[in-house]
Amino acid sequence: MVREGNEPHVVLPCKKATHPCPCGYFGDLKRECRCGTLQVQRYRQRISGPLLDRIDLHIEVPAVEYRDIASTRAEEASDVIRERVRRARDQQRTRFRSDKKINCNARMGPRQIQQHCKLSSESQELIRIAMTQLNLSARAYDRNLKVSRTIADLESSNEISSEHVSETIQYRTFDRTLWV
Ligand SMILES: [Zn+2]
Repeated sequence: MVREGNEPHVVLPCKKATHPCPCGYFGDLKRECRCGTLQVQRYRQRISGPLLDRIDLHIEVPAVEYRDIASTRAEEASDVIRERVRRARDQQRTRFRSDKKINCNARMGPRQIQQHCKLSSESQELIRIAMTQLNLSARAYDRNLKVSRTIADLESSNEISSEHVSETIQYRTFDRTLWV
């Protein structure tokens, strides 16, 4: 999520972005990964769950070459995105105006999550399935709710819909037992 200056940053304990497997080609559309399933699993276990739980978004980035080919659609202009983020931040400041310690969704504790991240029964079912199938921890669950709240805010929506929840789950790649 968009960070302000005083927000803590989480950096993976390596200088480069993390590869999906030892050879680096797992999930690549153009080159074949030669690692075995067990090898990939063991490699990924090196990134600890508690560490991943502290990161809001995990996204797999395809090889640059592929991204260039794939991006034929018109991209949204940065100032349009900036305005949307500004509005979402305003909305969050208003939400937490009575709480001096919190100014954005990322800072919510269990009490605020319960108050501001209410899910419809459809979204609840979706997140329950994700918890079970993707092996999510309780901490990852809370983080999912916060990210879902922010995605809803970016759409100026008071309700957290099942679309918001499923978008969030897509940003939690590393929570999956094996990325596919
Ligand atoms: Zn590989």
